[in-house]
Amino acid sequence: MTVRMSEMTWMEFDKKIKDGAITILPIGACEQHGPHLPLNVDTVIAEGFAERLAGRVGAVVAPTINYGYRSKPLSGGGPLFPGTVDLSGETLIHLVFDILEELIKDGAKNIIVLSCHFENEAFVCEAVDLVSQKYGNKAKMLIANWWDPMPVEIIDQVFTEVPFPGWAFEHAAVTETSLMMAMAPELVHEDRMVDTQGVTPCPYNIYPVPADAVPETGVLAPARSSSAARGQLIIDSVLIELEKMCSKEFK
Ligand SMILES: [Zn+2]
Repeated sequence: MTVRMSEMTWMEFDKKIKDGAITILPIGACEQHGPHLPLNVDTVIAEGFAERLAGRVGAVVAPTINYGYRSKPLSGGGPLFPGTVDLSGETLIHLVFDILEELIKDGAKNIIVLSCHFENEAFVCEAVDLVSQKYGNKAKMLIANWWDPMPVEIIDQVFTEVPFPGWAFEHAAVTETSLMMAMAPELVHEDRMVDTQGVTPCPYNIYPVPADAVPETGVLAPARSSSAARGQLIIDSVLIELEKMCSKEFK
């Protein structure tokens, strides 16, 4: 049977939830990812991990949130790129809150919010915190992404040709490009990859966002050396960790 809630009948969904299945809410973004990747990278990756994890642990994947919190210049390129469509923090908090509340009212007791857009984190935490204050022990909720559970030795194995630039700069670079090559190769334009060098992190934020804060390609670190094999390595190692998280937290 499908793991996608949207493709289940209400009775199928109801039974899964009553049997104690985990519900996963993926959250992505609609954000520029350079000349070689589509706007929906964070969404494809969030869904990709959610569906793979669901297949392993018998979870249900709720419909994905396709937009995220405001893109920042030095982690996502920022708001000045056409196609980057951002939500305010307030909207994201309300959106996540409303969805979680409905799921809990339907009987969901075990929930994972899988957010794969860096900037979402504080607002997702706020929404989950508010839901938790309201519903207490009715539901256990985890907030996860793919980069925090990734073992350090995997970072070393992925970054053998270019140095690891830090997670904020890993935007449209080796990890995201490799994950896309493994999950949705038809959306990757390898011939358009740019070898960005020498962008240095600014240790503070500037508003209004200066137009020259990031390279005009929107890419902050090189994607060179990306491959489907590296993507698969990340997928396999992260899924092991996410599965461990499920068996530890949802007994
Ligand atoms: Zn991204």
